[in-house]
Amino acid sequence: MEMLVDLHTHTLASGHAYSTVTENALAASRRGLRLMGMTDHGPSMPGAPHLFHFENLTIIPDQLFGVKIMPGVEANIINPEGELDMPLKYLETLSLILVGLHPICYPGGTCEENTQAYIKAMLNPYTDIMVHPGRPDFEMDLEKIAYASALLNVPLEVNNSSLSTIQEKAAARKNCKSIARYMAKYRSPVILGSDAHYCDRVGEFSEAIELVQEAGIAGQDILNTSLERVLDYLAARRIRRKDIKPSMLMHRLSIA
Ligand SMILES: [Zn+2]
Ligand SMILES: [Zn+2]
Repeated sequence: MEMLVDLHTHTLASGHAYSTVTENALAASRRGLRLMGMTDHGPSMPGAPHLFHFENLTIIPDQLFGVKIMPGVEANIINPEGELDMPLKYLETLSLILVGLHPICYPGGTCEENTQAYIKAMLNPYTDIMVHPGRPDFEMDLEKIAYASALLNVPLEVNNSSLSTIQEKAAARKNCKSIARYMAKYRSPVILGSDAHYCDRVGEFSEAIELVQEAGIAGQDILNTSLERVLDYLAARRIRRKDIKPSMLMHRLSIA
């Protein structure tokens, strides 16, 4: 499987990542990637950049070492309503908005509350991609999440770092396998993300590829095997930002 895009990478600006955007882009180029997201953590993560970091991202070159750079954020869900830690003004200017749950930013609640928070964040018209749904920190109804992702056409990430570097690796693998099977069942849009916190991890997808193949996810359902597919999806998402009315969609989310 040839991977051309890694939308989930962190730089020094995240406070607990250790490479610059230039080092990340060089690593991406060496791996043959065509597009890289620069998605440092949203401001509620300890050590994360302040809002002016996001405002100033316009100075980052459009391309580095032949790799297109897409400035964005990994925004944090901060409550059961699925609200994000980024003011609208900033969401409007960023090219790429990844959204995820992190215990240090929001401790979470019951399985039902966590599932609701995650799906409500998916309904946010500014959300582009939902990251690491398989992390074991938050109990969620993974079938419902995969179903919502398919219905709303919001991609779920299969996060390579969850499978390779976090401490609860066995639990993460079990959860990731489980949601990947539901993603295959409902044909949810899928994206693989390295979640690199050091440059040598950029574009590293081996564990994620193995997992999606085991789950029977088809190549054409994986966005980042094609640069065009990623760019087309994000462009369509920009148009839909204007049309989506979350309240109109909520009633369709129960699984029969
Ligand atoms: Zn991080
Ligand atoms: Zn994350």
